[in-house]
Amino acid sequence: MNAFDPARLRPRLPSPLEPAVDERFTRRGLTLLLKRDDLIHPDLPGNKWRKLALNLREAGGRPVLTFGGAYSNHLRATAAAGRLLGFATIGVVRGDELAGRPLNPSLARCAADGMRLVFADRATYRAKHRPEALARLLALAGAPDDVYVVPEGGSNVLAVRGCVELGRELNGAEDPPDVVAVACGTGGTLAGLAAAFEGRTLGVPVLRGGFLGREVQALQEAAFGGPRGDWRLDERFHFGGYARTTPELDAFAQDFGTRHELAIERLYVAKMLYGLTALAEEGAFAPGTRIAAVVTGAPEPGPDSGAGRPRGSG
Ligand SMILES: *Cc1c(COP(=O)(O)O)cnc(C)c1O
Repeated sequence: MNAFDPARLRPRLPSPLEPAVDERFTRRGLTLLLKRDDLIHPDLPGNKWRKLALNLREAGGRPVLTFGGAYSNHLRATAAAGRLLGFATIGVVRGDELAGRPLNPSLARCAADGMRLVFADRATYRAKHRPEALARLLALAGAPDDVYVVPEGGSNVLAVRGCVELGRELNGAEDPPDVVAVACGTGGTLAGLAAAFEGRTLGVPVLRGGFLGREVQALQEAAFGGPRGDWRLDERFHFGGYARTTPELDAFAQDFGTRHELAIERLYVAKMLYGLTALAEEGAFAPGTRIAAVVTGAPEPGPDSGAGRPRGSG
């Protein structure tokens, strides 16, 4: 373990797998379990710990530059890791119109953790996978030559491999689930989880567009050399797109949180739980099925703690 390995932060691994008694599931003979990845580490919760771990070990203390939207859980986790382990972080934020404005609570937390924030116009940001655009962004950020670049959402080969452990933990549970459900942004978590999990994996994309299946395939190809595991996506539960919500989704998340004494992360976890509950009510699972829902994160910091969010803010 090197000095910059987040294993030094004593993560709670394997994360707990807890039964959640919910009559919408029990009524149909289903068992709902919550895989509490949100408890892995208070500052690097959920899949962000799993996706960063191997990357930070690889970076070995070099400055880390990464990308995200104004409410990115990934930017916050990277900034916190930099503070806790003692390496420099640079966050490239989508949207140069944010540059002159006060920081929202999520970006304020990044800055307080020592992350240097650089605001990029949307066209350049979108093109960041192209070498010239990336070079322009690195220059704009004043990034040092030895910078370690982690892609948006943290999803690269090392991130996917880090998420394999999530599947292994579920396989190793005393009474392993038959199905696991996970919310998807870039699909990196699903790609790794499904590669190891011996049951069926269900992904719930929170972005609109129907592109995610191809991304997961590409990530599995890059990480493992080909397709792995039994997974599928249900694209019906994005509620209009990233960071979009509706009164119905808000009410669902509030109610689920009250029933299970759990603060529900709204960008991802709420949509996955909504989708899973809808599928249970549609009779999509045979009686006797044990279903694990991955709680991939915790609510964002700030006065509203994930309650009412600005709409469509990406
Ligand atoms: C980042 C994030 C996801 C999405 O993970 P991907 O690997 O990008 O699909 C899911 N849930 C939470 C809480 C997240 O912060």
